[in-house]
Amino acid sequence: MPPKKIIIVLTVLLSIIGLLIAVDNDNAMKTLTGKLKYEKANLFLQTDSASYRLLLAPKAALDTLGIAILADSTATVMGKLNGNILIAQTIRLGAKDYTLRDAEMNPLWSQLSTYSVVPKTCIGCRLCVSNCPLGAITMVKAKAIIDQTKCVECGICTDGINTYKGCPVKAINKK
Ligand code: SF4
Ligand code: SF4
Repeated sequence: MPPKKIIIVLTVLLSIIGLLIAVDNDNAMKTLTGKLKYEKANLFLQTDSASYRLLLAPKAALDTLGIAILADSTATVMGKLNGNILIAQTIRLGAKDYTLRDAEMNPLWSQLSTYSVVPKTCIGCRLCVSNCPLGAITMVKAKAIIDQTKCVECGICTDGINTYKGCPVKAINKK
């Protein structure tokens, strides 16, 4: 094979390997220890090297489990990491371990979230669908619907994240 072709083949192979590594890092299970921090009511886990938006469970579920989130306390979280969003499977606070999700990351709580969409206000833009980190929003008859068994009340669909500024018509309510 001519050297130019070898270089092209190697470049393509390296690109594919890089892509596979990137895909593997997305949604990878990680265990991270850091301090719990609030920024504008959003919860973060601040480690020595980075800050992660931490998603736990609806408030009613946390209350039932006796999980009190205190700013500046230390937590060890095992969960699914997607970019800088960490979806907790287990969390250690002090000497106590709490399990929020099973091995397949299905919620173990029975409390429903308090978020819902007002159908007559929703314009069907789908922006909330693609930005919900839990995949809790689907479209039915061109209207968004929140699966309240999956939603963790993170507020991303209403308040936004990164370039998404939240529902443009404020069709998502929190009771
Ligand atoms: S972002 Fe708002 S308007 Fe767009 S689909 Fe979701 S609820 Fe409907
Ligand atoms: S983005 Fe909205 S629907 Fe999705 S988990 Fe957060 S609050 Fe619930």
